[in-house]
Amino acid sequence: MKVGLVGNPNTGKSSIFNLLTGLRQQVGNFPGITVERKVGSFSADSKDFKLIDFPGTYSIFPRSKDEKVVYDVLSNPEHSEFPDVCIVVVDASNLERNLLLFSQVYDLQVPLIMALNMTDVARKNKKEIQREALQKMFPSAQIIETNARAGLGKDRLIEAILNSKERKDPDYFLGPIPEEGINDALIQEAEASARYEKIQKLIDKVLVRKLESEEITISKWDRILVHPLWGYFIFAAILMVVFQFIFSFATLPMDIIDGAFVKLGSWLQEVLPTGVFTDLLSQGIVPGIGGVLVFIPQIAFLFFFIAILEESGYLARVVFIMDRLMRPLGLNGKSVVPLLSSVACAIPGVMATRTISDWKERMITILVAPLMSCSARIPVYTILISLVIPDHYVFGVLNVQGLVLFGLYALGLVSALLVALILKKLIKSKDKGFLLMELPQYQRPKWGNVGLTVWEKVRVFVWDAGKIILALSVILWALASYGPGNEMEKAVKIVEHQFENNTNLDQEEKENQIASVKLENSYMGILGKTIEPVIAPLGYDWKIGISLISSFAAREVFVGSLATIYAVHADDNEKLLDRLSQEKRSDGSLVYNLASGTSLMVFYVYAMQCMATFAIVKRETKSWRWPLFQMAFMGILAYLGAFITYQILS
Ligand code: GDP
Ligand code: MG
Repeated sequence: MKVGLVGNPNTGKSSIFNLLTGLRQQVGNFPGITVERKVGSFSADSKDFKLIDFPGTYSIFPRSKDEKVVYDVLSNPEHSEFPDVCIVVVDASNLERNLLLFSQVYDLQVPLIMALNMTDVARKNKKEIQREALQKMFPSAQIIETNARAGLGKDRLIEAILNSKERKDPDYFLGPIPEEGINDALIQEAEASARYEKIQKLIDKVLVRKLESEEITISKWDRILVHPLWGYFIFAAILMVVFQFIFSFATLPMDIIDGAFVKLGSWLQEVLPTGVFTDLLSQGIVPGIGGVLVFIPQIAFLFFFIAILEESGYLARVVFIMDRLMRPLGLNGKSVVPLLSSVACAIPGVMATRTISDWKERMITILVAPLMSCSARIPVYTILISLVIPDHYVFGVLNVQGLVLFGLYALGLVSALLVALILKKLIKSKDKGFLLMELPQYQRPKWGNVGLTVWEKVRVFVWDAGKIILALSVILWALASYGPGNEMEKAVKIVEHQFENNTNLDQEEKENQIASVKLENSYMGILGKTIEPVIAPLGYDWKIGISLISSFAAREVFVGSLATIYAVHADDNEKLLDRLSQEKRSDGSLVYNLASGTSLMVFYVYAMQCMATFAIVKRETKSWRWPLFQMAFMGILAYLGAFITYQILS
């Protein structure tokens, strides 16, 4: 039996979903469209039920693709997702407004249950609801009082589901839903006002207000938190704290995961018989899985904080104050958290766009998020800055290296906003972007809901994006480990021969040299040499070419890859810097000078260079088109940016 879950946003739909299904949840799509569908299951009376969560909406008439699903499914009994019974969650503390959607679903003749939620809030606001009067308004509906936050009403809901019957004779609150209303704004408005009028006429019997006069009060917190000046300061301060936590707490588990997989890889290499399979496992698959799992701490921490901010009611305020600033750019108040998260890592950032219900604004946010400078760029920036930017001070206090680093971050941010502006003009959408929201009550977060959010995000990343990341890392491994003919073996023999004749050189030096010539003669090395003419105008040689290609795995791989090519141990940054600073072209000039180094930094500001981002964008947009488009435009920006930089500076 299928049970649908419908309601206005922020009425407690997710809480009721969690209450009924617990951990038995799955995220997928509504058939044929890219609107997310959460499905959970539960059993009662030895029957199995499937609970389908519909997107939150204020009216049956859709303003976005997401909301349209609600109408498409509920108006069509032939639809594969058509529920046998529908739970419409109604916020008892906002009864009048919530009854609009409820009465519309009622008039679709769907068997339905009203989950009269937030009864505690209504009571606190001194509003009393007369059940009998409400029942008279909607005779065919079962009305159940719930407090999903406290976990109250579960058994009554299940009982109502078991009791639900098909509605035989049509009975309307207002009248049939006009089908043309779906496309006609005038009809929608007329139909909504007719409903409100009728609701208002009847509401006095249902809602007994104990307050003498109802005054609209702004909570004393909101006087500060949505203040046109202090609101922004406080948000900035909270963000600072959150990022401090993410950076300081996430690094430790990330290092542990990283280290563990490196160890596991080399251990497997030792204990398993030498051969292709061992190499694939120890150098391709194990590091690939490590490359997926290493993101878990950042994702988990970020969503832990987001969930707390959301549960407490604060995030709605942030969206409210930021919306004004973001809208002219084609973004949305809800884009702020994803974009700022992307400064830590674009992956949780892209995942956090889920809350943006407007399709176009969500796409733009996803597309520009990786332009924000993430933490994986830091090792690349650091090594290049120490190579080519002098450690000088200007005006006695400003360090030039620090200024350049700041400039790179600023370049990323400004570019993200400009690209958003351009995409706003380019991407066509029928949805009207406007923000309609209410500010929910402040309350203490529920840890169960916070935990479920974190679990859900981690799971989606590991399973859905993980597959693509693993596949790509195996491909990159194969490209770097194999080469055409027996060039690799020949090169290795030459190195071995040199070392036989020269006993002064030690074993480690030999291994580093072998790794270097192997990479040079692999398919990856050949690719790097092939693209040399293309990247020469940017100031790069084939060694940089190889590092560019291999760092598609992740930006920080750039440094490790250079270390391999220059036959330096991966952890020996000093020695690598030394080698790089002496590297000369055939004409005797330095390879890493101000022009080429800066050009490389600009390249890394723009280039996508992260297969995990690619994978998560594929997952979140449910298409290959968007991640490919994103990689292409970021690649073009990177090339042009680096080209211009190099030509100006050299
Ligand atoms: P959704 O947007 O409709 O999915 O709503 P959520 O389930 O995410 O709930 C929004 C907020 O309201 C969360 O902080 C919940 O903990 C809280 N909430 C849900 N049901 C109740 C309730 O009956 N009483 C109170 N006081 N809070 C509730
Ligand atoms: Mg929700």
